[in-house]
Amino acid sequence: MRRTKQVLVGGVPIGGGAPVAIQSMLSVPAHDIEGNLRQAAALEAAGCRIIRAAVPDREAVPLIAALKEHTGMPVVADIHFDYRLALEAVAAGADKIRINPGNIGGADRVRAVANACNERKIPIRVGVNSGSVERELLARFGGPTAEAMVESAARHLKMLEEADFENTVLSLKSSDLKTMAAAYRLAAERFDCPLHLGVTEAGTERQGLVKSAIGIGALLLDGIGDTIRVSLTADPMREIAAAKDILRALGVKGCGAQIVSCPTCGRTRIDLIGLAHQVEEALRDFDTDCKVAVMGCAVNGPGEAREADLGVAGGDGCGVVFVRGRIVEKVPEEALLPTLLRYLKEWERTDGKL
Ligand code: SF4
Repeated sequence: MRRTKQVLVGGVPIGGGAPVAIQSMLSVPAHDIEGNLRQAAALEAAGCRIIRAAVPDREAVPLIAALKEHTGMPVVADIHFDYRLALEAVAAGADKIRINPGNIGGADRVRAVANACNERKIPIRVGVNSGSVERELLARFGGPTAEAMVESAARHLKMLEEADFENTVLSLKSSDLKTMAAAYRLAAERFDCPLHLGVTEAGTERQGLVKSAIGIGALLLDGIGDTIRVSLTADPMREIAAAKDILRALGVKGCGAQIVSCPTCGRTRIDLIGLAHQVEEALRDFDTDCKVAVMGCAVNGPGEAREADLGVAGGDGCGVVFVRGRIVEKVPEEALLPTLLRYLKEWERTDGKL
C-alpha cells in the first residue's frame, strides 16, 4: 500500500492507510433541495461515505447547508471557475471543495480560497481530467497524455502550495483506461497527496462498471488509491453498488461477503444459476468479511472452492454445505439456501470462528 499523507473530509480520513472510502455525486438538479436530500439519504444507507454536490450558481449554495444538516456524510462542493462560489460553499459548511486553482482567475483568488479552507481545515481536491489539460500542455505533450495530465496537476498543486495550502487530494481522470492508469501511477511517484480514483465518462451501467473495475481495480491492486468514485450514466445508487462490488472483488477488508461460484458443467444437477443469484441477493447487505462458494457438484466443488470460508455444492436433487472445504451437512436441494444462511448467521455471530 502506497503511504500518503492523510486528509480529513469531515470525519472521514482519506489516505495515510485509512480504508478506501466510497463516494458518489448527487444527480438531482441542484435547486431541488428535497430531492437531493432524499437521494443523499438513500446513498448513505447504501454505503456511500462521502457525498459531492455540484454548485453551479449562488442559488445552489443552500443545498450544501441543507446536506450538512440532514445527512451524516461529509459534503463536497463541486465548483467550476467561480472562486466566490467556493468561498460561499465553505461558509455554508462544505467539508471539502473540488476546484482547480488554475481556472479561477489568478493568485489572489487562489489565496482567498486557500485561506478560507485553511481556516476551516478542509481539503481541496484538484480534479484534473483529460478535457481540462491546458492548451499549452496539450501542444507540448501531443495531446491529453498521462504526462500532460500530471504536469497540469503539478501546476494546480503548486499554485495551492504558493498560497500556503497543502491539504490536498488529487484526481486524474480520463475515459481512456491506459491514460488514466498511467497518469495515476506517475502521480503516485511524484506527489504524496491522497488520490481519488475514477474513470471519467465511463459509460452506462454495464460498460461503466467494466471500465471502472479495470481502471480502479488495477490501481488498487498495486496499492494506489485512497477514495473511489465509480461514474456511471445511471442512478447513483448503482455507482455505490458497483463501487462495493469492486472493493469486494479485491478482497478489501470491511466490504462484506465475496461470492465465488462455478460456471456449471455437465456434472451440474441442481439449479445452480438460480441458487447463486439467491445467495448473492441474500448477501448484499451482509457486512462480515467472508468468501462464500456456490458450486455445482460435490465431487469437485468443495475442493475447487477450498479457499472459501463457507459454501454449498450440488448433488442430484440434494447438496452439501461445507466450511473451509469440510462437509458439515447434506440436505435436499430446496434446503441448501436456508442451511447456508443459517451457517452464515453463525459465522457472523462467532466472527468467523465456526
Ligand atoms: Fe462442473 Fe463441479 Fe466444477 Fe461446477 S464445481 S464446474 S459442476 S466440476
